Amino acid sequence: MTLWEKAYLPEILRGLSITTGIFLRNMARWITGRKGALTTYYPEEQRPDYAPRNRGKHILTQRPDGSPQCIACNMCATVCPAKVIEIEAGFDANDPAHPKFPVRFEIDYSRCVFCGLCIEACPEDAIRMVPATPGLPSTDRFNMWLTMDEMLTWNPHHDVAKPYPPKGGDPILRGDVSSTH
Ligand code: SF4
Ligand code: SF4
Repeated sequence: MTLWEKAYLPEILRGLSITTGIFLRNMARWITGRKGALTTYYPEEQRPDYAPRNRGKHILTQRPDGSPQCIACNMCATVCPAKVIEIEAGFDANDPAHPKFPVRFEIDYSRCVFCGLCIEACPEDAIRMVPATPGLPSTDRFNMWLTMDEMLTWNPHHDVAKPYPPKGGDPILRGDVSSTH
């Protein structure tokens, strides 16, 4: 570290000058009726330009016949650090391929931290987070529960689950080539 860097004071003054410059610029914009700081006055204003990879609203994917892909295994609820996913499982003996299904699937958005761990944990690509924001503001926290119906018909787009194993996975597991072992 040079003596100049060890002194710290020049860097502190440089930082203060940047902060003061931005403050004065925003103040001048505010006084002249233009928008001030580069911020969004949520919820009155909402950004239309979330990145495609933004993890916002949760959705549940569906099988081609429209039923939920979810097999009610509870892995997402188990891994959720905020413990905000509630699943009630049903059983259909007439569907041996997918006997378990969710009767109720809800997320308490007032406590969700949008970490995405539920998505990572799902073995079925049954739950995803799409770029759209969930529309959270409410005067009552009990209005902030996201229901299964909302997650299945969110846009009212219907997302079909990816085939398993997902494309790009092991071609042998995917069944595209046969193993020589
Ligand atoms: S995003 Fe995180 S906190 Fe929210 S439901 Fe999923 S695991 Fe829980
Ligand atoms: S969303 Fe995925 S992890 Fe959660 S219960 Fe359904 S299948 Fe299991």
